Amino acid sequence: MTLEQAKEKRLTEHFTLYEMMRSETAENHNIDNTPDATQIENLKYLCEKILEPLRRNFGVIKINSGFRCPVLNLRVNGVGNSQHLFGEAADIHCYNVYIARKYFDFITNHCQYDQLLFEYRRGGSFWIHVSLKRNGKNRKMRIENYPAKH
Ligand SMILES: [Zn+2]
Repeated sequence: MTLEQAKEKRLTEHFTLYEMMRSETAENHNIDNTPDATQIENLKYLCEKILEPLRRNFGVIKINSGFRCPVLNLRVNGVGNSQHLFGEAADIHCYNVYIARKYFDFITNHCQYDQLLFEYRRGGSFWIHVSLKRNGKNRKMRIENYPAKH
């Protein structure tokens, strides 16, 4: 699948496949970060259950990192068993700490999730990492102030 095709492929009303797989690192290093059919279904489920409800409530949501193939995950120093590898996780960009708090609380109160992490780096950047399993038990594991590890 080309990036152009991924831009055309809508997973839900407001999210395209491209948004869930795009990566500057992948593009800079010519890494083919195309998910397979199962991974696409997982991404779609994540959009349906969490990202669309968030979008409907807050307006445009920017995804920093969605799917990562193994090569890309290594490149960005993701953990070895990262749920990004399966299309089960997304890092949501937060413009400021107040919005981050609102996203965090909204997902806590309105969505099912496996892991919900408020991640931060020492430099002061932060984002929400959220994951959801289509098959299997979702742990509802919630951690605030989680050191960035993807
Ligand atoms: Zn993440």
